[in-house]
Amino acid sequence: MDLSGRVAIVTGSGRGIGRAIALKLAEDGATVVVNDIGSPEPIEGVAAEIRAMKRQSLAVLADVSSAPEVSKLVETTVSKYGQVDILVNNAGIVRDQLLVRMSEADWDRVIEVDLKSVFLCTAAVLRHMMKQRWGRIISITSVVGIAGNPGQANYASAKAGIIGFSRTVAKEVASRGITVNAIAPGFIDTEMTQRLDEKHRQEIVGRIPAGCLGTPRDVAETVAFLTSDEAKYITGQVLSVDGGLLGAWW
Ligand code: NAD
Repeated sequence: MDLSGRVAIVTGSGRGIGRAIALKLAEDGATVVVNDIGSPEPIEGVAAEIRAMKRQSLAVLADVSSAPEVSKLVETTVSKYGQVDILVNNAGIVRDQLLVRMSEADWDRVIEVDLKSVFLCTAAVLRHMMKQRWGRIISITSVVGIAGNPGQANYASAKAGIIGFSRTVAKEVASRGITVNAIAPGFIDTEMTQRLDEKHRQEIVGRIPAGCLGTPRDVAETVAFLTSDEAKYITGQVLSVDGGLLGAWW
């Protein structure tokens, strides 16, 4: 894809799927703002990798569940590069527990980080994209948001919320040249899934028709396509990147 001249923000891109997305968009020519929470080293590292590719990049620490920090992330981007064309809502956490044992704090934190952040970041970039009459918003949901998964009522609710949100906002902004889509990964090999014990991991692999976990790059390639000019007529969609898992579940 040719993304030269485009400016992208990728949330939660210090590692895992977000990092792979940031690197792929940069490889395709975009300027990329790398965001995460916590210590600055991971995002500085990803931004340095991007600069080594002779692309522009900025690392911005921000908690995307906080309105003032999201505002800082988007305004820093626009004041440095003059525009924001692509937003990838990737940041996410899990706090798994069966519902009968789930605390209110674990419910609230997952909804804030996985769903409220999507509202905050999307609303903040839309103001700029509507003026530009061009924009691409892609949010990372999950097959769990479509099919459900025991122990993940908070996570599945947040991820299902992203789907309703994306379909709605897609309709609101379609006439402005802005597309809004969601990608639903299955099981991807990252720190999030490396926490699973080996037995559980093997059970999951046994249920995936493709016979293996996906890679962060598999998700990143799909994001890059949806951000391109070529994908301009695709909006309000949820695209599974799951080696056939969802089809096998139904
Ligand atoms: P990960 O835990 O490796 O990475 C998530 C990143 O988000 C981390 O760098 C983390 O620090 C960051 N983050 C967390 N809270 C944040 C906040 N408040 N503000 C900014 N950044 C924050 O996970 P991953 O596997 O790379 O997952 C990326 C996305 O893909 C998540 O939304 C996840 O729910 C989704 N997903 C992952 C899988 C999978 O199998 N790995 C499957 C489906 C969906």
